[in-house]
Amino acid sequence: MNQTKVVKFGGSSLADAKQFKKVAAIVKAEASRRFVVASAPGKRFSEDIKITDMLYACYDKAAKGHNFDKEFKAIEDRFNSIISELGLDLSLESEFENIKDAFAHRAGRDFAASRGEYLNSMVLANYLGYEFIDPAGYIFFDESGVFDLERTISVLSPKLAETDCAVIPGFYGAMPNDTIKTFSRGGSDVTGSIVARAVNASIYENWTDVSGFLICDPRIIDSPKPITTITYRELRELAYMGAGVLHEDAIFPVRTVGIPINIRNTNHPEDAGTMIVSETAESSKYTITGIAGKKGFSVIQIEKDMMNSEKGFGRNVLRALEKNDVCFEHMPSGIDTMSVIVSTDSLVGKEKSVLDEITFRVHPDKMEIENNLALIAVVGRGMRKARGTAGKLFSALAEARVNVKMIDQGSSELNIIIGVEEEDFETATKAIYDTFVK
Ligand code: ADP
Ligand code: ASP
Ligand code: MG
Repeated sequence: MNQTKVVKFGGSSLADAKQFKKVAAIVKAEASRRFVVASAPGKRFSEDIKITDMLYACYDKAAKGHNFDKEFKAIEDRFNSIISELGLDLSLESEFENIKDAFAHRAGRDFAASRGEYLNSMVLANYLGYEFIDPAGYIFFDESGVFDLERTISVLSPKLAETDCAVIPGFYGAMPNDTIKTFSRGGSDVTGSIVARAVNASIYENWTDVSGFLICDPRIIDSPKPITTITYRELRELAYMGAGVLHEDAIFPVRTVGIPINIRNTNHPEDAGTMIVSETAESSKYTITGIAGKKGFSVIQIEKDMMNSEKGFGRNVLRALEKNDVCFEHMPSGIDTMSVIVSTDSLVGKEKSVLDEITFRVHPDKMEIENNLALIAVVGRGMRKARGTAGKLFSALAEARVNVKMIDQGSSELNIIIGVEEEDFETATKAIYDTFVK
């Protein structure tokens, strides 16, 4: 069996020289940790700014034609202090010069953001004595900006097969015209997964600043219990709904081939962390596996008598959204009512044209948009077997005096999604946690 491990280190794991030392100790502890995917330096303390955000801000100034020397210098300083504190024989001066020049020539926001992982991986490769591989030549997007797995694997696999050990920057690849394109924020997780797939790794270790996936966001619940094992599907539901530990798209490259992902803590490497697997016979300790949620949703409430006997009603509503380039998240419906949940951001500036288009297509009796909705997903493979989960959930929310505005139970019985007022979000999450976990 292939014993190669792919290890990805997030921004906080590589924020300064002290963290680099922990990373090197982890990599060197096992010879199988041959391929390392690195993020840009993240926050060293809570008010600190991530290099990625500094790069965006710096480039935005450059693109407006303003002087950006000060912003650029602050970025250089962060890398230089890591290099000097590690005592490396490495200079990034010529790289800085090239990047600065590219900024002045408006090389693009994606290019700008990607330089954080690019430079950090150069430093890490030098420190570890590993080869540096630039994903610009190995990770590809298609003409429409969609990641191209097939083309990527066909070029990346042979390259890595002839490489002993390498550091590969996360977060970006190239478009067919060779310009740099990034994944969405947090996308180094996706790169790690792609590399794991390319070398058919025995495991993809994702090293971060928490000891695994916790049942709930630690910023809402104080010290939530950890999850030992979670399935790809459960994880995707939670990640999509805001459990930010792992990028929601990171499971796709490894899912079909069943490479497990292990979330680990760089600051506590002795902890086992969370295993993310395709199937598990292990039943979860609680009925639910996790809770996650997000604010920033709007609901379009549509009422029309007898709508459910009107053929094509739902399709026409969705076509109105499609015409305005708005995706829908959920669409619970009753006999004479339908609610379409969309993200508020996607609706900005389009409210009127969406409502006009729906009116034109289905002539509702009444229709309105309500903002400030938060969605909470309660996810768990154990809910299929347990009776009364929904009942328990709603009595907990009623007791906490939370008004539930929407309910959607996924057809897989893997999740229940509820919509609440944004101001009730934290209270609702705590009430659910206390009922199922405490
Ligand atoms: P990295 O920089 O290593 O990629 P991230 O900041 O992307 O790390 O992800 C780790 C963070 O995710 C944690 O510090 C924590 O604040 C947050 N988080 C949100 N939901 C959860 C959860 N359910 N379990 C663990 N961490 C969570
Ligand atoms: N550095 C990028 C970000 O901050 C990508 C990542 O860290 O995964 O989003
Ligand atoms: Mg991350």
